[in-house]
Amino acid sequence: MADTIRIALAKGDGIGPEIADACLSIFEAAGVMKSVEFIPVDMGERVFASGDTRGMTDEAIETIETTGLLFKGPMGTPVGGGGKSINVTLRKTFATFANLRHFQSLPGVDTVFSRAGVPVDIYVVRENIEDTYGGIEHRLTNDVIECKRLITAPGSDQVHRFAFKTAEALGIEKVHCGHKANIMKMTDGLFLERFKTAADDHPSIEIADVIIDALCMNLVLRPQEYRMVVLPNLQGDIVSDLAAGLVGGLGFAPSANIGDQISIFEAVHGTAPDIAGKGVANPTSLLLSGLMMLRHIGLYRDAAIIENALLATLEDGVHTGDVKGDKDPVGTAAFAQAVADRLGKHPSGREARPVPDANSPDFTPPERPTVNKLMRTFETTPSQVAGCDIYLDSLLPVLDIAGRLERLAEGTPFKLTMMSNRGTQVWPSGSLYTENVDYWRCRFELRNPDLHLGQIGQMPIVHLLRKVAEKFTITDFQPLRTYDGMPGYSLAQGQ
Ligand code: NAD
Repeated sequence: MADTIRIALAKGDGIGPEIADACLSIFEAAGVMKSVEFIPVDMGERVFASGDTRGMTDEAIETIETTGLLFKGPMGTPVGGGGKSINVTLRKTFATFANLRHFQSLPGVDTVFSRAGVPVDIYVVRENIEDTYGGIEHRLTNDVIECKRLITAPGSDQVHRFAFKTAEALGIEKVHCGHKANIMKMTDGLFLERFKTAADDHPSIEIADVIIDALCMNLVLRPQEYRMVVLPNLQGDIVSDLAAGLVGGLGFAPSANIGDQISIFEAVHGTAPDIAGKGVANPTSLLLSGLMMLRHIGLYRDAAIIENALLATLEDGVHTGDVKGDKDPVGTAAFAQAVADRLGKHPSGREARPVPDANSPDFTPPERPTVNKLMRTFETTPSQVAGCDIYLDSLLPVLDIAGRLERLAEGTPFKLTMMSNRGTQVWPSGSLYTENVDYWRCRFELRNPDLHLGQIGQMPIVHLLRKVAEKFTITDFQPLRTYDGMPGYSLAQGQ
């Protein structure tokens, strides 16, 4: 075999060290250490306490960047004091664009579905960087705060390509895209369109899309109909926890954060401060995440042997105290020993994971980039200015605002065409029952698009903005552009 594969190891805080040690002892017993070398790195509460608001040392960052792999226990986020969640920082800094979670019924873990004999085996692939998780928020007026929701074509492409590749590797025949494109026609519409485009490269996989609310209901009613669902970030976050509930809770849910260069494998639960240091925590979630990592680097044989031993252990009724209904729980170390003792055994009540004859180690550590990568999907779409939306903070009645704006636009290439409040059209027509707040979208469009489209450039809308700014408080400004002749902006509700 080639050299061992190096993996950065952060055991984490609270129960982290206990469950990490349990996993490492199982890896040791299964012979995984012949193929990998774990490099401990310093991250988490101790680093935060030393005054480093990143929660990780320079050496830790260097090790993660050179190995391309991080196996981590849960880490606490300091409450207050400016420290951001290290878990989110890691995922975003190292561009782990896809979050993969696997939810499967486990033997001996009592759930509504296990009692009904309905097997659950679902992969959720969640976009991991964009959406409202960009955290781009602004207070716009006294009463209004916005969170900008960004969905990008290259970001969507990355997550969809990963989902299809993973589905192929796992032998999954059908992949669903969950979305809300019926309402968010442009953002979720793009996510869905890129899903369909990515599917073209995987003709053997059947695709379907499902609106997020229907998906939630279907997952609760008929989880066996889903094998893999790919979703935007926030919807994926919620559906992941819903799916965890189907199989007995977060203690049984592994998670992998996958990027082109760096990938992070972690338990989805937190540091469980209430039981830390007592030796009773359940290492299953972290162990299953570790198995995702072993498969990620091609150690399929080791992963299958350990997974079968874990299934056999659970089937034999060996459980930690968090598993409901267990009258005689074992501690963390005893549970790990029970798994190690069953290496080579298979569960009897369900299909075992097929064990390949050999591992196929396959992992190339990242090459350090010299510049930040600029990702592009659509490179040559012609785009032209068609107008602008100017957003105002005003307490005036809508007719007064509209009258003043119409006068301000005189002598410019633009006319006021629409005003909306919280996305609902209130001018030129609207309902008196629509309730308004102090924040108005005022849309200006070219008076004569035939004359100006393609020739006008940006300066006339900046000129209009200056005129409006002399009379109103502007909160934000959005040029309106067409792309390939299609409006790159949404209509108001009721428009
Ligand atoms: P938690 O997941 O730590 O605990 C919730 C409950 O689940 C507790 O009762 C706990 O005892 C139990 N529990 C969790 N994991 C368990 C396990 N493996 N075995 C047995 N019982 C388990 O959630 P929390 O209390 O909200 O968060 C505690 C800290 O963890 C916070 O600082 C939070 O920011 C952090 N956190 C970290 C991650 C991560 O590292 N990815 C994720 C979530 C929370």
